[in-house]
Amino acid sequence: MVNTHSAPALPRFETAFEALDPAFCTPCAPTPLDDLQLVHAQTALGHTLGLPTDWLHSDDFRQILAGAAPLPGAAPQASVYAGHQFGVFVPQLGDGRAHLIGRHQAPDHQLWSWQLKGSGPTPYSRGADGRAVLRSTLREYVASEALHALGIPTTRALAFGVSQQPVQRERTERAAIVLRMAPSFLRFGHFQFWAARGQADRVRQLADAVIAQHFPALVGRYADWLTEIIRRTARLMAQWQTVGFCHGVMNSDNFSILGLTLDYGPYGFLDAFDPQHICNHSDDAGRYAWDQQPQVGQWNCARLLEACLPLLNEDDNAAIEQANGIMGAYAAAYTDAISARWRAKFGLATQQPEDDALMQDYLRLIARGRHDFTLCFRHLPRRAMLMDLVLDQSALKDWLARYDARLARESMAQSTRTAAMDAANPLYVARNHLLELAIRAAEHDDFSVLERLMQALQHPFTEQAGLDDLAALPPNWAAALSVSCSS
Ligand code: AMP
Ligand code: MG
Repeated sequence: MVNTHSAPALPRFETAFEALDPAFCTPCAPTPLDDLQLVHAQTALGHTLGLPTDWLHSDDFRQILAGAAPLPGAAPQASVYAGHQFGVFVPQLGDGRAHLIGRHQAPDHQLWSWQLKGSGPTPYSRGADGRAVLRSTLREYVASEALHALGIPTTRALAFGVSQQPVQRERTERAAIVLRMAPSFLRFGHFQFWAARGQADRVRQLADAVIAQHFPALVGRYADWLTEIIRRTARLMAQWQTVGFCHGVMNSDNFSILGLTLDYGPYGFLDAFDPQHICNHSDDAGRYAWDQQPQVGQWNCARLLEACLPLLNEDDNAAIEQANGIMGAYAAAYTDAISARWRAKFGLATQQPEDDALMQDYLRLIARGRHDFTLCFRHLPRRAMLMDLVLDQSALKDWLARYDARLARESMAQSTRTAAMDAANPLYVARNHLLELAIRAAEHDDFSVLERLMQALQHPFTEQAGLDDLAALPPNWAAALSVSCSS
């Protein structure tokens, strides 16, 4: 019997881009990976998006993921942008291996753009193959969902698939595609592209479209809109810092106009705490080292403001003066956010003058011994476990004596404090060696390692039975892993 009424309908799709003007976007179809096999899909995300669960596992969906079929009612396209790459301005980049395939409105009315990555060349590929390999695709998929579960704004990943088609990198690898989702994929670089060409009218057209669709309360208020983006970016940096997330390629084309974490390449989570840790093997100078991230975020915001100067004032000097005022929002928002987040990690509910020194001294102590960033916070309320982690026992004891004296000035029960700290200090993060194990298995079509990792990372603050190995210190071989841009 044919069931005609129980399956929820697919939402209505439309062609996705904020400004439907051919100047910004080129119609462009993916090059399908016909043999693509679905590896993983986020059923919970699908539910939030109002998508039928069955559909995510249907062949119709697999074909969309493979770039072999369009989203019904929408046309695929690739957008043009520019950006500062490692400090050097590149006047034309663009979606070189990504296709915006459409967008829809979720049941809560949130707009979601759909983007395939690894779906073949576009007019912006600059001679490259338009593909992504399994290794980098799996890493992007895992990190998107892991950061989301940590409460950090990010693009999402609905599904990814792998094919047998070979892709040439340092070695031959398998092509893969990830389906990314975000309210918008617009980057700082989209604005920089037009500004560099002296086309202020296009900068304004794009800004107007973005504001109307994503910041409707700020229509016509460019200064307030830019201030909001700068605040979001500053808060995002504070969030990255306090979970030990290193982005790796903080080029302005990888910075989201919505303040989302965007474009996961050679990212990493701190294992042994080194404030100068560089997660990207190609970043020789350490431009994007962990301790540089907050100021790079600020630098990128300044580049966005530069691109948007004509929106602020017709008079150049007046616009610059206004922009300098707006930039002040970065330091203020960052200081507030980072202070609140460190306090939460240390379980400090009230504010005392000695707190900064106390917290900084702990960071110095764990940096000196290169101790594990994640576990040194997670185990802060578990003294026996902490003592096992830290080598310099006498320094730790001295510091703990100060910390205990400080905690004694608060009335909170220790059990309440531990629960609050556990909600701020994850147990599971997407460590490089865990990703490496998932990748090695996936390359042999064993996705069980990935499945288990996703299970842990989707509830990073909650200890889960049978997943101890995913919370353990990295093995010695992890230190030798290197991740670079080539993916
Ligand atoms: P990324 O370093 O991944 O942020 O990429 C920087 C620029 O290079 C973007 O314009 C990408 O679309 C483009 N790109 C990176 N890898 C490829 C590739 N394999 N094929 C085509 N374009 C690429
Ligand atoms: Mg990029």
